[in-house]
Amino acid sequence: MSPTPRPHFLVLTFPLQGHIAPALRLARRLLAAAPDALVTFSTAAAAHRRMFAEGEGGDGDGRLELLPFSDGTENGFVTRGDAAELGAYMASFHASGRRSVGEMVDALAARGRPVSSVVYTLLLPWAADVARDRGVPSALYWIQPVAVLAIYCHYFHGLGGVVDEHRRDHSFVLEFPGLPPMAAGDLPSFLTEATDPSDYFHSIFTTFRDLFDALDRETPKATVLVNVFQELEADTLAAVGAYDVLPIGPVLPSGDDAALFKQNDAKYMEWLDTKPAGSVVYVAFGSLTVMAKGQVDELLHGLEESGRPYLCVVRKDNKAAVAETGDATAAAAAAAARRNGVVVEWCDQVRVLSHAAVGCFVTHCGWNSVLESIASGVPMVGVPRMSDQQMNARLVERDWRVGVRAEVDGGDGVLRAAELRRRVEEVMGDGEAAEVRRSAAAWKRAVAEALGKGGSSDRNLTAFVEGARSVI
Ligand code: UDP
Repeated sequence: MSPTPRPHFLVLTFPLQGHIAPALRLARRLLAAAPDALVTFSTAAAAHRRMFAEGEGGDGDGRLELLPFSDGTENGFVTRGDAAELGAYMASFHASGRRSVGEMVDALAARGRPVSSVVYTLLLPWAADVARDRGVPSALYWIQPVAVLAIYCHYFHGLGGVVDEHRRDHSFVLEFPGLPPMAAGDLPSFLTEATDPSDYFHSIFTTFRDLFDALDRETPKATVLVNVFQELEADTLAAVGAYDVLPIGPVLPSGDDAALFKQNDAKYMEWLDTKPAGSVVYVAFGSLTVMAKGQVDELLHGLEESGRPYLCVVRKDNKAAVAETGDATAAAAAAAARRNGVVVEWCDQVRVLSHAAVGCFVTHCGWNSVLESIASGVPMVGVPRMSDQQMNARLVERDWRVGVRAEVDGGDGVLRAAELRRRVEEVMGDGEAAEVRRSAAAWKRAVAEALGKGGSSDRNLTAFVEGARSVI
């Protein structure tokens, strides 16, 4: 008698921190949800090398394997350069990625570890085809809100024309079925600032287009796991009925996360220990945002004037932020040391947000940051820039009332010190700020319920795993 086959999930992700983190977390959640399951986690080779030591295979008991795929380049994804360079990278990523992942699936089967389900994040539209060609089911792992999924879906299914017509008029109000009216400026920037072939992010726009085409090829319906929990976007879920949508989030770390960035100083946790509950302003703009020139000075100035202690992340690659040359983290840290704050190059954000001393998160509203903040009950000041961040900031402020959105200067996109101070007060001060804090605390409880035994996300993940098992 042959042994019962074990579910084996191949989790594929684009090599960006904001994609790797939720993918790796999901990989671990899948292992926890099914004790007999196997998981292979795979991202492009350069990112893999940056995160994992040579020979690091996984979790020791063989259930988790870490395998790189080739994107056809030596150095991997780089965000700088021009549209042609980014386009060339994406073309290489798609062609080599598709070939390399196909070979990986075949090789895994050949050595007796056949893949039974492929799970892939946003920018790998070919992953579903690779799986289908081998008779393996696949699921898209959508790592942004359902509202953003709904907008992309409507854009690529009939409403693209009206968006294109009004994309430059940020205050133009658009109506999408199943969604509240929204301003063009709140739409994902890849739909309003990347549709022209000369736009820097055009190759990302076409990748999204290919992704939605790929979903359309799935029969009877594409499966989409979303990194939200049902209660957070209950009304919006009906707007994505074209897919079989399973909210399974927020998918949080279980233990240490591997990251593309290294921490220069771990003492910030001890520093937080010395601060009263709810007193510290935490500032971080994710893994990609490069602050405009003069932004760090404005930030430190505004934080200092707020009179509150602060922990501020200034990544080293933010050179333009403080000086033309030199080390942005060091320069900002030197300025902060004379005052009431700590500046680090990178921190363990989930741990920071879970610390009782943190009372506010000044964030670019990357979806992981928003989810991590909601899960910790920390109110936000949103400073959105691109991609889904405007929409996320709108949801934070208007739908969930767990934060406020700050205005940046129209000319240079800089968040001014006075605006920062005012917004921080709106979530940390007296009066209406208490309402934001109450709301944040309520959503924190809702997260715990959704993730707990029998909660909505727990049930949905179990249903996904059992569904995957039933088709082996
Ligand atoms: N992050 C972190 N330490 C930092 C800054 C960011 O661990 O100092 C993590 C953060 O917890 C989140 C990810 O980096 O998981 C950033 O993802 P997000 O979607 O918020 O933004 P992106 O980097 O994609 O713009």
